[in-house]
Amino acid sequence: MSRLTKPYGPFARPSAPQPDAIAAWVKDRRAGRSAAWVAKYYGVPLQRVSDSTREFGPFRVRLKINGFVTVSEAADHLAIPVPTLCRWITREYMPAPQRRNGRRVWAESAFNDWLANAELETCPQCGAMTRDRVRHTAASH
Ligand SMILES: [Zn+2]
Repeated sequence: MSRLTKPYGPFARPSAPQPDAIAAWVKDRRAGRSAAWVAKYYGVPLQRVSDSTREFGPFRVRLKINGFVTVSEAADHLAIPVPTLCRWITREYMPAPQRRNGRRVWAESAFNDWLANAELETCPQCGAMTRDRVRHTAASH
């Protein structure tokens, strides 16, 4: 069979994303969308998005307030519920946000520094960033 099809190849593996698909995902990730968001939006497995966009990263959190990350943006970026994020703050796993115009925010640089050192793992099933993947999987899946 390979002898017959060889002149027409090479063939992409069925699971291998096409370059234009990857380009679209990278564009969204550069715009600050999380891998989980991209996976959900395009209806593709998260692992595929992560694997094929990784080399184009690192990608940063999208910001609505210039230079600051709000609690909801942080939760969205980490693909975790806001109450989970608040628990991380209470337990001092995350630095406490500052109050700025009535909103709780981190400076962008502080948030990205924290994220770089947080040693979070990404759940391959739902894209949530988690401190303990085994416990997360047991609790959420
Ligand atoms: Zn999960």
